[in-house]
Amino acid sequence: MKLKYDLHIHTALSPCGAEDMTPNNIVNMALLSDLDIIAITDHNSCENVEAVIEVAKGTTLLVIPGIEIETKEEIHVVCLFSDMDSVCNVQDMVYMHLPELKNKPTIFGRQLVLNNADTVIRQEEKLLSFATDLSINQLVAIVEAHNGVMIPAHIDRPSNSIISNLGMIPDDIQLGTLEISRHQSLEAYQHVYSNYRLIQNSDAHDLGFIGICNQTIELPEKTTIALIRALKTS
Ligand SMILES: [Zn+2]
Ligand SMILES: [Zn+2]
Repeated sequence: MKLKYDLHIHTALSPCGAEDMTPNNIVNMALLSDLDIIAITDHNSCENVEAVIEVAKGTTLLVIPGIEIETKEEIHVVCLFSDMDSVCNVQDMVYMHLPELKNKPTIFGRQLVLNNADTVIRQEEKLLSFATDLSINQLVAIVEAHNGVMIPAHIDRPSNSIISNLGMIPDDIQLGTLEISRHQSLEAYQHVYSNYRLIQNSDAHDLGFIGICNQTIELPEKTTIALIRALKTS
């Protein structure tokens, strides 16, 4: 079946995310955009994933647990998992590898942890939008161990991408899928990276961008497992 996806969405937890990127607003916007599958991928954290999953329960929307992890090479990687336990375990490891820096909300923006009623439970104090000291190879091992899939993010961007920061995709990293940003044409990159599956996500930090790429993926069934399995293959 052909399913409309947007697998890179930030919430109000990301300091750069708009504060109206709440669980209910994101789910409602995704449904208005006719999306079948979304992934919640805040910077180095998954604190708001469960609330979005709870809001989507009973709707047609499938929500994938994710994190956008920044490696020590300052590469952004969208990491998706099949369940909350896996993503939470990975988050715990990521937190141990983030520098001991506190967020300065007046400079970077607030990092809001929300519940399924969009109520602010607390503000995350750890500065989330910062590089971890995990290498890309260490991240491969962590994501593998948690049966997740890693997708180098916005590889066409001049910074924070595997191509901009390493100049290439190292041979020893097994990848099925790469992400093209919403600013480029996915088709234009297809022949350049013909050994990979290319996907295009909004990387939405604001509600208006959710679902803007209008991309679909062919899956045997609408499940998290089927999506992760597909993304592991080119
Ligand atoms: Zn990014
Ligand atoms: Zn992002």
